[in-house]
Amino acid sequence: MKRDDLIVVAGAGGFIGGHLVRYFTEQGRANIRAIDKKPLAEWYQITPGAESLCLDLSAETNCHRACENAVEVYNLAADMGGMGFIERFRVECLRSILINTHMLEAAYRAGATRYFFASSACVYNTTLQKDPDVRALKEADAYPAMAERGYGWEKLLSEMFCQEYWAEKGLRTFVARFHNVYGPFGTWDGGREKAPAAICRKVIEASDSGDMRIQIWGDGHQTRSFTFIDDCLIGIDRIVHCDDLTATPINLGSNELVSINELVSKVERIAGVTLQRGYELDAPRGVAGRNSDNTMILEKLGWEPKTSLDAGLRATYTWIRQQFAARKQGLAVVG
Ligand code: NAD
Repeated sequence: MKRDDLIVVAGAGGFIGGHLVRYFTEQGRANIRAIDKKPLAEWYQITPGAESLCLDLSAETNCHRACENAVEVYNLAADMGGMGFIERFRVECLRSILINTHMLEAAYRAGATRYFFASSACVYNTTLQKDPDVRALKEADAYPAMAERGYGWEKLLSEMFCQEYWAEKGLRTFVARFHNVYGPFGTWDGGREKAPAAICRKVIEASDSGDMRIQIWGDGHQTRSFTFIDDCLIGIDRIVHCDDLTATPINLGSNELVSINELVSKVERIAGVTLQRGYELDAPRGVAGRNSDNTMILEKLGWEPKTSLDAGLRATYTWIRQQFAARKQGLAVVG
């Protein structure tokens, strides 16, 4: 790719898309178009030098405008959130199929050479995830399919669209299955936040108010792995530029498995507090356990996400604490 070749990032007003625009700029890419349906004032990050557009990419004509002259297209636009959101708003999640469907066709017609789709570990067969002591999920475990209702099925079908655009039309597509990405400049309040941000915020709130109690969704024994944003960005870049991974969905996730109780303990240690725990057993909790099998990414890229959860959480906690303090002073914050 040449330095001036146009990169298009969809969903650039959100968490990962916003970071990706900054990442490519720092890599010296001079021609980046960033797009999101949110008004610019609500974007989590705006990178100077990038063209930033407010367009709803569920409409086909907007996708053609977005992809004009594109050489590489990265689709990170979706209506999504943590468990509380995706269990409750399945219609919204399913509707994101429109974005990828139109973006693929627009990228193809624009003559783009590479197309990236952000998929999710939610595509994996849920019957394999009933035990907190879970076997890590390898790519083949998506089939026979029994994905998470709504969000997971949308991702699985969009993956298939990507694969068929390569098979039938020769558009080189790449698909990463993210496992719980977290970090600064992500949603941390309002109902769409995911577990690491929610727990950081709850610990900060409990300490700030002096209440010293925390409510945890589920029994706290459910397990997950969490991927720090810096690893996610490097992973996307490497996956998209590895021809061997064309039309081949691949895990992009940490394999450091922790229970939600352990996650809370880690944040408590960072904050220097110990809270009294309560458990909301009827709150959304998702599958019992989920981890990333990194055999394929190690084999194909000789690389896997490396940031420890402790280091990533420390950076995330520090940023959310700053956001919390800014909001208390009436200043504008992310999310
Ligand atoms: P995010 O919600 O912060 O960002 C998504 C962005 O897409 C938002 O800014 C939203 O306004 C935008 N968007 C939604 N509908 C749109 C439309 N019709 N047109 C244009 N923009 C639209 O989420 P994120 O965490 O940055 O996730 C990015 C991608 O990665 C999504 O596809 C998500 O499903 C996927 N993913 C994320 C995680 C994670 O842990 N964060 C895990 C698995 C998969």
